[in-house]
Amino acid sequence: MGPDQPLADFCQSFSRKKEPLLQTAKHWRPMRRKLLDILACPIDKHYPLRLLEFSTKEPDVIVDGALLCDACSRFYPIVDEIPVMLPDDLRSTREDTEFLTRWKDRLPKETLASGKPVNLS
Ligand SMILES: [Zn+2]
Repeated sequence: MGPDQPLADFCQSFSRKKEPLLQTAKHWRPMRRKLLDILACPIDKHYPLRLLEFSTKEPDVIVDGALLCDACSRFYPIVDEIPVMLPDDLRSTREDTEFLTRWKDRLPKETLASGKPVNLS
C-alpha cells in the first residue's frame, strides 16, 4: 500500500480477497497522528475521523485508541498501534464487544449506546 492510497480502497480490495486479518495487518502502518490526514471511513468515506488516544508512545504513535466516524457512528479500534478499519462483514462482534467493554470509561457515551456496528446497549 503506497502512502497515497486511501485506506478505504485498501480495505475494499482486502474485503474482496478475504485474506486473513493477521496477514494483512503486517502491511498496515502504526497509527500516528499525522495519519488522520489520509484516513477516511471505509463505509461512507467520511473524513476526517475523530481520534481518541487511550495510550501512546513516543513520539506520536497511538498504541491503544479508537477512530470515530461522525457521519455513520462507526468506531474503529486501534489495537497494538494498528488502526483496524474493516468493513462490517469482516468485523468480529465478540472482539468489538470486548473492545467497547475494555475502554468503556474512555469512549464517548454515544459510541457505547449507539455505535456501529456493535454497541453495549
Ligand atoms: Zn462512516
